[in-house]
Amino acid sequence: MLYTYPNYYDKFKCVADKCIDTCCAGWQILIDDESMEKYNKEHTGDERIDWENEVFHHCKGKRCAFLNENNLCDMYTQWGEDSLCVTCDRYPRHIEEFENVREYTLSLSCPEVAKIILSLKDKVTFIEKEDDVIEEYEDFDDLMFSLLEDVRILLYKILQNREISIKDRAYQIIEITKECQNKINEDDIFGINDVIDEYETNLIQSLNEEDYYQKTLPRFKSLYELEVLNDLWADLTDEAAALIYGGDTYACNELHKEFEKWLDNNIHANSIMWEQVLMYFISTYFCGAVYDGNIIGKVQMSVTSLVCIYEMLLARWIKNDRQLDFDEIVFITYMYSRELEHSDINLDTIENIEYNI
Ligand code: SF4
Repeated sequence: MLYTYPNYYDKFKCVADKCIDTCCAGWQILIDDESMEKYNKEHTGDERIDWENEVFHHCKGKRCAFLNENNLCDMYTQWGEDSLCVTCDRYPRHIEEFENVREYTLSLSCPEVAKIILSLKDKVTFIEKEDDVIEEYEDFDDLMFSLLEDVRILLYKILQNREISIKDRAYQIIEITKECQNKINEDDIFGINDVIDEYETNLIQSLNEEDYYQKTLPRFKSLYELEVLNDLWADLTDEAAALIYGGDTYACNELHKEFEKWLDNNIHANSIMWEQVLMYFISTYFCGAVYDGNIIGKVQMSVTSLVCIYEMLLARWIKNDRQLDFDEIVFITYMYSRELEHSDINLDTIENIEYNI
């Protein structure tokens, strides 16, 4: 079995009661069978567990019934670390599973992880470890998986090409993936190799900036397609829509240009931050297309995520009289991730929205 980790994986440390948020509120945590069995044996009838639905009960503010007023987990302190169910024990570590491969990442929905990812200055690399475990999945498409890995390497190369703007990088990964998707749809998966080879000799043109701005609104609108997991986020989205799109196209474009200039002058190396966000989404989700064939959906979702985070930050900057600090960038980023990545319905929705670009 091959295990992969981004090179910042070991930097994470949960700050528990010092956390600016908590991962124990707002989500319904499904308890795995093994933990259910253990709780049943050792803590039968505990009122904090919903025995019928196999989830933890919620208190006011959708807080987990085990979460105490100091934002510490009573299960952890009273019953010990080993009592945690798989979800609680693992978070914010995330694992994508493929035949003989486990890809580990850290979830951007944890504020401490968001801080790490948004602060990275070097290009992300991936560490590999291997052991003797061998598994066999029924119907796993090895060939497709290895082609997807090759495409992903090319996408990394483009995303980490700091010679070109982040907008052009985003544009290029969409264009390349569209061509690969066509090959898949035409049942010509070996044609993917030609797309990869062609990119090396035939660079894609730059994006017209004016067009880019006009394409922002449809991506931002996709936020309204998502199921609402957090009312605060829904309010922030409405507020952003009014602040950015409440005027005409000209005003909207001018705001974007002004914000871009402000970012370049005030947030050091901000394009590296966007690079890390795109690297995060592509590295986590792209190869999952081996199960549904929807590679363009994975890339569109990644670019849309970047645009939505950017737009929400633009709104914040307008609201704050043209100011924004790193903590707010972290806040918007992890809140977005919570809204998207903690709902399979939302991930599926956003992957299946079609854009002209
Ligand atoms: S959100 Fe992250 S830092 Fe905060 S308590 Fe959860 S795991 Fe720890």
